[in-house]
Formats: sequence, C-alpha cells, structure tokens
Amino acid sequence: MRLPSDQDATGRFLGVEELDRLRAVIDSGVLTATKGVQTPELEARVGAITGHRSVVACSSGTAAIHAAIAACDPEPGDEIVTTSITDMGALTPILFQGAIPVFADVDARTGMVTAESVRAAMSERTRAVIVTHLFGLPAPVDAIVDAVAGSDAMVIEDCAQAFLTQRAGRQVGTFGSMACFSTQQGKHVTSGEGGLIASDDDRLARRARMFVNKAWPYGEADPDHEFLALNYRTTELQSAVANAQFDKLDAAVRQRRATVTRFLERLGALPGVSVPALEAGDVATWWKVPILVDREVVPGGPVALAAALAEHGVASAPRYIRKPAFECALFRDQRTFGSSRWPFTLARPDALDYSPGRFPGTYEYLERVLVVPWNERYDDGHAEAIARVVRDAVHELAGAS
Ligand SMILES: *Cc1c(COP(=O)(O)O)cnc(C)c1O
Repeated sequence: MRLPSDQDATGRFLGVEELDRLRAVIDSGVLTATKGVQTPELEARVGAITGHRSVVACSSGTAAIHAAIAACDPEPGDEIVTTSITDMGALTPILFQGAIPVFADVDARTGMVTAESVRAAMSERTRAVIVTHLFGLPAPVDAIVDAVAGSDAMVIEDCAQAFLTQRAGRQVGTFGSMACFSTQQGKHVTSGEGGLIASDDDRLARRARMFVNKAWPYGEADPDHEFLALNYRTTELQSAVANAQFDKLDAAVRQRRATVTRFLERLGALPGVSVPALEAGDVATWWKVPILVDREVVPGGPVALAAALAEHGVASAPRYIRKPAFECALFRDQRTFGSSRWPFTLARPDALDYSPGRFPGTYEYLERVLVVPWNERYDDGHAEAIARVVRDAVHELAGAS
C-alpha cells in the first residue's frame, strides 16, 4: 500500500492558491512581515478562526512557545509546569528564558497531563502551566484551568497539534491566557515553518509581539528596544502560504474526521487494542491516531505490531517519542550554557527529581502507544485498508500467543 505522506505533495493540499499569493508577494518586493500585507491578514484570519482578539505570527511553533513564556516574564528559577510527552520545541524555550520546566505526569490512557498531575507539580514558584493537546485530541484543559485558578500561574495552551479541536464544546486555545500554534511541514496546515501566538489579553499579546520583534514596538510613539528579545519574525512568503492553507483548514479537518471515523469503525473491537475515548462535547481533529496496545494480549506490543504493519506499507510509530523528555541528555546532564548548568542551578531539588516512580503514567503510555500517521489526503479506501491491515496483524499476533 502507498499512503499519502504529509512530508511531500502526496499528503498536502498545496497548489495554485499558495502560488498566486506567493507571486503577489514577489511582485510587491515586500518580503518582510513588518511592512507586508500577508502577515496582518494571517493574524486577522487566525484570530477569526480561533476566536482570539490578538494573534502574533512568528517563525515557528518553538518561537511561539518562547514568546508566550517571555510574555509571562518569569524570574530566573521560576517554574513552568509542562508535560513529559511533547515536542522538544515546547520545552527548550523555558530554559532559554531562565525558567525551570517541571514535568507533570500524564494520564496513562491519554498521554496528557491532568488537573491532578498538574496540581501535584505546582509550587509557589509556578508562573505558568503549559497544557499540550496531543494528536488533535483535547487535554482536560477546563479542569486544569480550574485547578490553577487562585495561583499566580497562567495557563498556556500548546495547540500545535490541535487546530479546531474542541473540549467540552469549546475550541481549545480559548481556555488559557495564551495559545500557541505551529505551521511546520507536518501539522494540519503548513508553511514549511511558522508559528502563532493567540491571546485575548492585550498586555500579553503586546509583549509576545515585541518579543518576536527584538522588543521594538512597531507603530507606537517614541519606540525603544524595551527588553531582551529576539528576531523570531515570519516572512511574507510564509504568511502567503499560511493564508492559503488556512482557507483549506475546515475541509482538511472535515476530511480527517470523516476518514478517522471510518478507520475506527472498521477497526471495531480488537483484543488488546484500545482507541482514544472522547467525552461529550469533545471534538478530535486527528493530527495522528494514537492507539494503545496491550502486550499481555498482543505479544511484542506496539513494536511487534508496527513491524507487522510495515510489511504492508503502513508506517507507524511505537512510543511516539523515544523517551520521556526528562531522560534526554539536555535534562539528564543539564547541558545548557557552557558548563554553567544554568538555569538548572536555580531550581528547587524537587523540581529536578526525575525518578521513574514519579512518572508511572508516562512510562505506561510510552510502552503502550502506537501512533498511526494521518493526513487530509487519506480517503475512505485508505482508512478501510489500514483498518484491515491492523486487524489482520493484531489477530495474527494475538493468535500466535
Ligand atoms: C510541532 C510542535 C511544537 C513545535 O513547533 P515547531 O514549529 O516545530 O517549532 C511544539 N509543540 C508541539 C506539541 C508540537 O507538536
């Protein structure tokens, strides 16, 4: 089977709409976002889509997370509660901003943090909680916002994998103080690289905008470089592509939902396999499809199943990430600036306690998850064929035991 891939044209809808806008940018000669028209249009468009008053476009999802942390302006050594299962680009900006990532454990069924695990990870030094919506499924951000209320911490939602996802009937990204998005090659919409910060808080939005612009307040009277900041700007070329792509987001999400629904229907109940459960009011937009494989029932677990699927041309990723973030050399050996280990040197010892016993949900989830890639070029035929391959492989492995 040859499946469409989001890493090339087979799995993306890129075409004349993107080219027309790119040509207009080239013809205008204005490639910088600071003087262009595509970038303001993109920011307004994403504001309308996500329901936010302010949107700031930037160079990547990583830059968006960094700008959100900078907008929150932690003191060195302050803590940001985050998750052990995420993209490294959601973690390194915390350290660059002098703050300490504190890992909350995840629910072994969802791979996402919970109100309980977030609360357990918080201290009087917590300035923000990053809630990551994995695979286009919603984290319990409503309960997390309630759990955080009354503390000094703000909630930042990482929606890089969760365009148009809903929790309890409401779009994710609208629960916290800021939401971050990515338009990297493999996300729901792509401009190659790109990021967005969305907020309804004018002060936070201004700080985020300043942060991606060397802290220069374009358009304001008596401007000055007001604080330490970087150039994380996008370009008119990226924004042109992103504008055309966002026009296609609704259709892409509709297609993903329809084909994943078909896949899950055809998969049916399988011994040792569970599929994501959605609560009432939740809407998944399926960046990828995570299934859980019980090695007691399916010998070899996700690794054996992935190998069996690969024989039929169906790629999949056991574990999603090779190891919990805190096991990476960056955290294990505290490799940061020279040999200083800063800002880890400022941390409470408890914030750096990565003992496996503190993360049972993380280890269990990574042992059980198998991530099936998906994109909007999959049709019902693909969905049915993948379901058939998975069913046959599970039955064969389970039967062989
Ligand atoms: C992709 C991703 C990021 C980083 O985005 P980039 O555009 O690749 O820098 C951050 N968080 C999550 C959850 C992601 O999936």
